[in-house]
Amino acid sequence: MKACFTNDDAGSVPNVKSVEHFLTVVEWLDRLGIKGTFFWVPKPGAFERAHEVWDEAVREVRDRGHDFQLHGLTHASCLEFGVPQPSTRRANPSPFEEYESDPERWEREHTVERLLDKIREGCAIYQRVFDDTPTVFRAPCFGVCSAMYEALAQAGITASSSRGINPTATAYTILGDPSLRRWAPDFPCKPWVEPPGVTEYPCTEDLLIRGVPNDAYEDRLDLLVSELGHVLDELGDDGLLVFGSHYHSMMSTWDRTRPLLEEVFEFLADRGVTQWVTFRQHIEQRL
Ligand SMILES: [Zn+2]
Repeated sequence: MKACFTNDDAGSVPNVKSVEHFLTVVEWLDRLGIKGTFFWVPKPGAFERAHEVWDEAVREVRDRGHDFQLHGLTHASCLEFGVPQPSTRRANPSPFEEYESDPERWEREHTVERLLDKIREGCAIYQRVFDDTPTVFRAPCFGVCSAMYEALAQAGITASSSRGINPTATAYTILGDPSLRRWAPDFPCKPWVEPPGVTEYPCTEDLLIRGVPNDAYEDRLDLLVSELGHVLDELGDDGLLVFGSHYHSMMSTWDRTRPLLEEVFEFLADRGVTQWVTFRQHIEQRL
């Protein structure tokens, strides 16, 4: 069984400290022999400064075998490429309120033409930084629409990882309501094809997005293992486990998050996850 360690938001925050945090995660992955896939923001706010502090680091990390893929264009709004899954509303209502306050504006933003412009602009910046083309797309906050898949296909990107499998469990980690600590997946765990031909690889939720609170190590470990167990059961031996994470969340409680994730990786190895691949490798092997 193969797994892909994905990590979001590289490139987005224009300061040296964020780059250091990102590099700490990369060095840790290197020690574990895992090549990560970083969903990178091509056109963040403070564009010039952001590229000034990030470009050299991300190029160097890519040269070491890690993968970078597109994570929206600006990531300025969760609505950049569509509306997030309804089940995320419990823990993060603001994108829904933003949409509902002016739906016509967002419908204009979510046409194939507008989204294709955004994807092409992201690809052009990617080309400039990495001298290559991206092969996978992840929408900010997993906010998608059918026009996004159409635009991706037109841009030649035939893989997306923009759906979270079980946001209910994430809501538990944010809100603390024990009734949310349950397996209630929004989607199947196996990939499917969205018209007109983009394979959607659903991602496990980042259950450590708020870090690992001091007294919650065992609870979060147990939850992650239980969630991943459900996903592995459904995927079977020839599936690809797409593991979701954020470097900034990891660093917020690094002393606890790091050993916790190492225990999770041991669990995965026991369950037969023996090969960590990048998304690019997986897509290239698929073709
Ligand atoms: Zn993001």
